This record gives sequence, C-alpha cells and structure tokens, in this order.
Amino acid sequence: MVKQKSKTVEKVKSVLKFGGSCLKDSSSILKAALIIKNRKEKVAVVVSALQGITDLLLDAYYKSLSQNKNYRGTLDYIRQKHLVLASELLSLQRFGKATEIFSGIFDNLDRLLQGISLVGETSPGLKARVLSSGERLSAFLLALVFEETGRKARVYESDRIGLVVDRQSEEAEVNLQKFDKNFLWVRQEIEAGSFLPVFTGYFGCTEDGQVALLGRNGSDYSAAVLARGLQAETLITFKDVAGFLTADPSIVAQAALIPVLSRTESAELSYFGAKILHPKVWEPISDRKITVEIRNYEQPEISGTTITRNPVRCKNIIKSFSINRDISVLRIEGPGVGYKPGIIGQIGSRLSEKEINILTVLTSQTCINLILNQTAAEQAREIIIKLKEPAIRKLTIENDLALIACVGTGVRETPGIADRIFSILARNKINLEFFSSGASEVAIYLIVKNKDALETIRALHREHFQKKTADERAESNPHSSGDTFVT
Ligand code: ASP
Ligand code: MG
Repeated sequence: MVKQKSKTVEKVKSVLKFGGSCLKDSSSILKAALIIKNRKEKVAVVVSALQGITDLLLDAYYKSLSQNKNYRGTLDYIRQKHLVLASELLSLQRFGKATEIFSGIFDNLDRLLQGISLVGETSPGLKARVLSSGERLSAFLLALVFEETGRKARVYESDRIGLVVDRQSEEAEVNLQKFDKNFLWVRQEIEAGSFLPVFTGYFGCTEDGQVALLGRNGSDYSAAVLARGLQAETLITFKDVAGFLTADPSIVAQAALIPVLSRTESAELSYFGAKILHPKVWEPISDRKITVEIRNYEQPEISGTTITRNPVRCKNIIKSFSINRDISVLRIEGPGVGYKPGIIGQIGSRLSEKEINILTVLTSQTCINLILNQTAAEQAREIIIKLKEPAIRKLTIENDLALIACVGTGVRETPGIADRIFSILARNKINLEFFSSGASEVAIYLIVKNKDALETIRALHREHFQKKTADERAESNPHSSGDTFVT
C-alpha cells in the first residue's frame, strides 16, 4: 500500500509590500527579490506598479480620451521599460515567459485605449482596467525574478480573488465581510502550497466583476486587506525611507526617524501630509493584532518605524509635526448655525455624495469652519449655496493656508502643551489663524498662513526637539540629561 504523504499546512506570517519607490530599476527589483528570499518565515507579497508607471498609464489614458494618437508612444515606452527590465533580470527561458505574459497585458491595453480613443468616451470601469495594468506587470515581473532564486511564485490578480469593493469609484472601499468569505479558498491554497504568493495592489473589483481602484497609493490599503485575509502577524511595507520622521526632511534637515508610533498617531500623520503610509491601512485590520512596520528596502535588516496597536507615550509627548500646505477654510456664517440641529450632518452628507473630503471642522455658535483642500473648498461652496439653508447668511473662503498637525499620545491630557506651542509661535512672531485641540486624542491642529508655514514648522521642530529656550534652560535641573527625543 502506498502511504499518502500528509500535506503540510502553514500560515503566512508576514505580508511584504513593495511600493513603486523600491521597484524602479533592475537593481532595486533584484533587492526586493532577495529581501523576500531571505525571510525565514512564510511570506506573501503585495506590489505597486513600478515607479512612475501609474502616472504614465494615466497620461496614455487621458491622451486616448482626448483622441490624441500619441497615447501609443506612451504605451510603447511602458512596454519597452518592462521588457528591458525583464531582459536584464531574467534567464532566457523566463524572459520568454515574461514576454508572453506582457503581450497579453499590452494587447488588452491597446484594445482598451484604442476603443476609448475611437469613441472619445469612457467609464470608471475602463479607466480602472487601464490603470490596473501597472500592478499586473510588476507582479508578474517580480514573481519571475523571484523564481530565478530557484523557488516557485504564483501571481494573484486582485480582481480575481474576491477582493470586492462596495461601489465603483476611484477610491473604492473593500467590502470586508464579502472579502473574508471570498478569500477563504485563496488562503487555504496558499497555506497548503509551497510557492510565494504575489498579489497586485491598488485595485479590486465590483460585485459584477468590473475592475475598481482603491485610490492613488492604495497598495498599502490592499496590503492591509490581504494581511487580514491571510491572517498574518506582521505587515512590512518597504519604502525608500525607513519610516515616519519628526518632520518632513525637505523642510527640516534635522528631522529624525520615529522608531515607534501608535496606529492613531500614524493615521493622523498620514492624513495630514506624511506620505509614508496610506491612512486607509487601519480600517481592514482594526480588529486584528497585526503589527505594521515600515522599512527601507536598502537596509531591510534595520527596523524603521514600528506601528503598534497600543499607545506609546514619549517624554516630549509630541512625536512629529506634519504639514499640509493645500488648505482652505470655508467659513459658513449665520447667527443660528451653531444651534441649528443637523446642519453639519446635512452639509457633510451632501459633500460626501460628491466625494469631497472635509479634513476637519471647527465650530462656534455663529460660524462653522470647514477645513478642506483648496480645490474642494470652491466645489463645497457651490454645493452649500444650492442647499438654500436659511440659517446660512454668508459663505467665505480663505485660501493659502497650511495645517500643521502636532501629533503624539498625550497631547490632549498633558497640561502645558498648547501653552508651549503658543509661546513658540509668539517668540517667532507667527500669527495663528486657527487652533484646535481636543478633537483628537493624539493631535493638535494649527492653521497658519501658507507664507508662514515653513517657518512655523521649523520653529516648532527646533524648539521642541533640538534646543531648549533660555527660560527652560534656566528652569531645568542642571543634572538632567537634557531634553532629547526619546520614546
Ligand atoms: N500604483 C498606484 C499609484 O501609483 C498605487 C500605489 O502606488 O500604491 O498610485
Ligand atoms: Mg505608486
């Protein structure tokens, strides 16, 4: 009797996500493949398109929509780029396989763009099909490069694995309940297999099977959804930087890496400007213990920022200052707006129907201030005018503002934090336009004129992290070790 070999089932421990910034040329793609190979635990991979490819696809898409034949040139460039990388990275046999797979993807793209350009019309589903090609190309490329190390890989295109979204949109949300059910067979197949699963980031599909996008830079979000589906313990996103910093290094040269952040802190930082991690990452794993790490793909063994579920307090309370320089305030005035029940809800739902995102709201009895991105402010004003709400007497927009989020666990309940911020601004003669504290457990928001924004963030960073004021020096204990940034 032949004894049947029992199948080993092993869970994926870590999901590794590679962004476009670490898939840009042959040496970075090779590094990614080696990072994957060197992991000791069972892993799954999620990729973005190669650096710059989504922008090029978007360019080809708009050219074809405006019936400009030059879209073909852009497409040729994308094809060439992938073929050259494949020829540099793959053996002859695998190069043959790559050209076959790429031909399929490019034939499809050709047909799509030709069709769009013929009729000069499109649909969100068509646009999503065009843009999703970048991730399909990079996933197959990376999978084949990984196979050069002697192991097997399998690509899962995310419109074919039940990554179902709620509605067709360029910023669709994954329907997690349906995903959990649909994804079961994929998880089981992966747990029973001994291949590397490589998933495409950035898109899923609607229930009727149309490709739908998850928003620009949405592969982080995809990676979180997949980490949930695979029941992984860790999600590591590889970038060309090691993680979150105390400020944007292009503004503050002394900005330093933050080793540990809580999920809420990182969401505040992402939401208001830090481009390190997509703020939607937290939704799919809100009920999971998954630890999220950011690492620099150039130094994969060194930990960058680790993001934990629990709050972590640092001595200085504030861990980082993030900045968004594209801010407008839409002021909605009227003697009764503050006590008119439901008015904010009514405005909010109208704006969200049009996909206008309100960053934050500051209210008083006679005035509601909506904080928005500049282009959204104009659109929001038009929508609110159409509401014809009698309580609203005046609508004004103030442009050219910047919002600075001072983020750290404890900002709300630690006495003296706001006071300290005010005195830094006063000492540096910076006028504060708006101030909001208490809305978030972990953030204080300041709004200043855009022309003062850089000086504000430099002054805050300098005085908070780098030096003590003369007063503080005089007050402090001469034996203390100084006010250094520790977590
Ligand atoms: N490739 C997509 C973009 O560039 C998604 C991503 O990078 O995460 O937006
Ligand atoms: Mg990208």
